[in-house]
Amino acid sequence: MRRLHVGIDDHDSPEGGCTTHFAAIAVKLLFELGAVFEDYPLLVRLNPGIPWKTRGNAAVVLRVRLPEGRVEDAVEALVQASAEYRGATRHPTSSPGMVFAVDVDPHAFQPMYKMALTDLVTPDLAYRYAEKLGVLVPREYRGARGIVGALTALGALLEDEDYTYELLAYRSPERWGSPRLVDPGSVKRMDAETRPFTFNNYDEDEDRVLITPRGLDPILVGIRGEDPRVLRRALGLLEIDEPLDAWIIYRSNQATDAHHVPRQVAELKPYRTGSVEVTVASSPRILPKGHVILRVTDDTGTIDAAFYEPTRTLPRVARKLVPGDRIRISGVVKPASSARGVTFNVEKLEIIELSETYRLVNPRCPRCGARMTSAGKGKGFKCRKCGYRDPHARKERIPISRDISRGIYVAAPSAMGHLTKPLERYGKEKTDPPTPPQHSWWFWYR
Ligand SMILES: [Zn+2]
Repeated sequence: MRRLHVGIDDHDSPEGGCTTHFAAIAVKLLFELGAVFEDYPLLVRLNPGIPWKTRGNAAVVLRVRLPEGRVEDAVEALVQASAEYRGATRHPTSSPGMVFAVDVDPHAFQPMYKMALTDLVTPDLAYRYAEKLGVLVPREYRGARGIVGALTALGALLEDEDYTYELLAYRSPERWGSPRLVDPGSVKRMDAETRPFTFNNYDEDEDRVLITPRGLDPILVGIRGEDPRVLRRALGLLEIDEPLDAWIIYRSNQATDAHHVPRQVAELKPYRTGSVEVTVASSPRILPKGHVILRVTDDTGTIDAAFYEPTRTLPRVARKLVPGDRIRISGVVKPASSARGVTFNVEKLEIIELSETYRLVNPRCPRCGARMTSAGKGKGFKCRKCGYRDPHARKERIPISRDISRGIYVAAPSAMGHLTKPLERYGKEKTDPPTPPQHSWWFWYR
């Protein structure tokens, strides 16, 4: 048996294609060739801040063992299927990538994966790396943008780091673009029945179903959770009134904060992701659309942090921060759009320490209790009511109560990035990879 690692990216198109959907076709072909899967298919989210990302910036990795002599057949079948898939959903903006690594230790790719998750990797750099490590990049994918995700995702092992699962179910091509026939009431019931082993599937606060994408996307539903068996049960709880084409359970770095690497302000270069502990250096500036900008600083530098309105929670909290507050902010650096330099686009806010703020008021008269008035510069205070004077009296400091508290704040589920860890996942982080799935129970194809 030989080990084959397949990286796939950028099979999306505005006309209905989707990388994960093509990957489902690839899984079917590999099973037909006698492949044994060494892991669940991996759904790998990469840096959400890069400018040429595809929808969601997701790549897929398949790790299989194949009988001797079947590797070449597999490569040929997948390249042909990819060409057919793109032929059916062709679009000039799509720049697909697919790469193959045979009997290669995927740990060699780990540094590139970390870089693609938290920084900028150019197609050129990715390609040079592939050559060095002996990765097969078929001719049709050379120079393609999708090569970056396909190659760097090979280094996502998710073996000593947190991960989650997502079950994706696909529609029949003839229904792409028509309204999705999924009963919203059944989504609510599924959510209630499967929590806390599922998350971000239904937003109670906004009464909004989150599992159905919009438009031409071939995905009917995507159910996110902690346990593959619960996800399979969750699919069965949904009332779906249209035929399914396929469903597949992915293991993923989604919802883990994997991209929030600790950094200092000086390291916040455009397109980098990260997490910085800073002090608020300015009063909040509130922009017309409700976005909030805060100047923040650490020992190494100062940067503008932006809390955008669609996240709902974040600007509401940020507008109550004052200079001196200690916070940790996590997100992505946007390139300079004004003379003020780059902006840090905040996805998560932690209030570490609120500074004490005071209001200064004139002291009370110790004789009659009335508020005294100034007796003139440097002359202390006098009481207008009873005539008492105190040349040494000083203003009184009244603490102002802050109506925010320490803790972690994230965007509303509808505006949360794929990689951002929701609050309900805290304490559920996994540290060991699952045992390899023995059967194909995580996959179904019509
Ligand atoms: Zn008095």
